[in-house]
Amino acid sequence: MSVNDKQDNREHVVILGAGPAGLATGHEVSTHNSHKVTVLERNNFVGGLCNTIVYKGYKFDLGGHRWFTKNEHLNRWFQRLMEGEYIWVERISRIFYDYKYYSYPVSFGNVIKNSGIFTIGWAGITYLLSALQFSVFNKPIRNMRDAYVAQFGIKLYDMFFRRYSEKVWGLPCEELSADWVSQRSAGLSIWTVIQEALLNTKTDKKSLIEEFMYPRDGYVRIPQRMAEDIENSYADNSVRLESNVTAIKYNGPNDFEVTYKTQDGAEHTEYAKCVVSTIPLGVLPRLIDPPPKPEVIEAASSLIFRDIICVNLIVNKQQVSIDTWLYVQDEDVIFGRLHEPKNWSKAMVPNEETTSLVLECFCTRGDNIWEMSDDDIARQCVKDLENKLGLVKPGEVVDWKVVRALQAYPVYDLDYAPKIELVKEYLNQFEGLYIVGRGGTHRYNNADHSIEMGLLLGRHLLGYEVDYLAVNTEPDYQEIVSGGEPKRDAYRDEACQSE
Ligand SMILES: Cc1cc2nc3c(=O)[nH]c(=O)nc-3n(C[C@H](O)[C@H](O)[C@H](O)COP(=O)(O)OP(=O)(O)OC[C@H]3O[C@@H](n4cnc5c(N)ncnc54)[C@H](O)[C@@H]3O)c2cc1C
Repeated sequence: MSVNDKQDNREHVVILGAGPAGLATGHEVSTHNSHKVTVLERNNFVGGLCNTIVYKGYKFDLGGHRWFTKNEHLNRWFQRLMEGEYIWVERISRIFYDYKYYSYPVSFGNVIKNSGIFTIGWAGITYLLSALQFSVFNKPIRNMRDAYVAQFGIKLYDMFFRRYSEKVWGLPCEELSADWVSQRSAGLSIWTVIQEALLNTKTDKKSLIEEFMYPRDGYVRIPQRMAEDIENSYADNSVRLESNVTAIKYNGPNDFEVTYKTQDGAEHTEYAKCVVSTIPLGVLPRLIDPPPKPEVIEAASSLIFRDIICVNLIVNKQQVSIDTWLYVQDEDVIFGRLHEPKNWSKAMVPNEETTSLVLECFCTRGDNIWEMSDDDIARQCVKDLENKLGLVKPGEVVDWKVVRALQAYPVYDLDYAPKIELVKEYLNQFEGLYIVGRGGTHRYNNADHSIEMGLLLGRHLLGYEVDYLAVNTEPDYQEIVSGGEPKRDAYRDEACQSE
């Protein structure tokens, strides 16, 4: 059969968004030659939040992105995709709290040195009190604060979780759902922390991973490689940039018209059997015809996000620190996290003599941080680095490039879950419309989750019975390595059995 014969029989899938999730679906169906694939992306680059910008020869990810998954099949998929391009990076992280540096994972010697023996004692007492409240007297866990306190006690919560969480989310922990904690730190308890800190050995749960894989030339290489494969597999497959999807018309089961606008203002339409959306769940209903009821629009509009500004600095010294990440708890420091790309891959800088830093400022469009000019926020970051963290001296930062990204973090407020259900109920009536991805499902996915969801959806389109929406729902701390592979319906190397 010629390629053209095959093309004639292929169903058309239109994918909205060229982030990791959308590209993974396109990649899976392209690999199996089953569908004609058109990916529509509003940006002028692929990768979504996994972008890497290049400025004066320095490469900057949108915040430090590492590759990590407990799913060994997915790791092998990654290694095949990134053959010849991935490297292993040792993880060395620290926490900056109360103007002092703490190693992470926490070491007792370090905590005693920085905070004193009384702090440790107080942390132990408050932990026992919370164990009594939550485990013995079954006090209900109502929000993020309760979830952390139940796991670590009030003192450790206040030292290592409260301030950073509130910086990231922009809300008090009492106004945030406990779900985020159960997704991110269930299984990590005070006991695993104590065992590691005291014995300096690995517990049976090898927590807090120490090595991760990373694409040598920046994280964007993952989506770029997927996009290259999609376009190379068939002449009529395409990944179209600067194509902003503005409307989706449902004519009946597996019959869609997708309208998008290009940079020149021209409107185009694609006809599709299936539509895969990674457009934020809160936005998607507003694009669909027939439109939803007002209560669905209201629920969708109140699914909120946190935005981010990354301040990328060029520093005229060989190395600033040996950290892969530094988490900054103190509220009076404008950024919440920083990383030094050269510590991840030497290819991220153009020469040996200099280095660079990426400082993440969490914010919400329209707030005080967002409204600062690029130069003002960069100057404030440099001041904090010099005066509060002591990591650079005046004059060492020689240039900067500020990058802003909207909708970086889906917020789990106290009533986000029923809102999602209402929106999904409306979307379920459209046969052939699928949602995946971080914004697409309003789920706090890492890139590996979004890719796994996308690959599984690809399998589903190929006719296999897989539950792609089960990805990233299991309550198991995501950095704990041992304990085997995820229990959920996970991506596997071998073809799934059709049931
Ligand atoms: C600071 C930071 C650090 C992170 N660190 C890590 C890490 O270390 N490891 C890790 O695995 N993950 C990390 N992540 C998470 C990772 O970036 C995301 O999980 C991943 O990018 C999600 O991919 P996605 O395809 O689901 O969504 P996105 O990346 O958001 O992609 C969605 C795409 O849809 C496009 N789109 C939206 N609306 C339209 C429209 N109307 N028309 C056309 N296109 C549209 C967007 O432009 C975007 O390209 C981090 C995220 C942030 C913000």
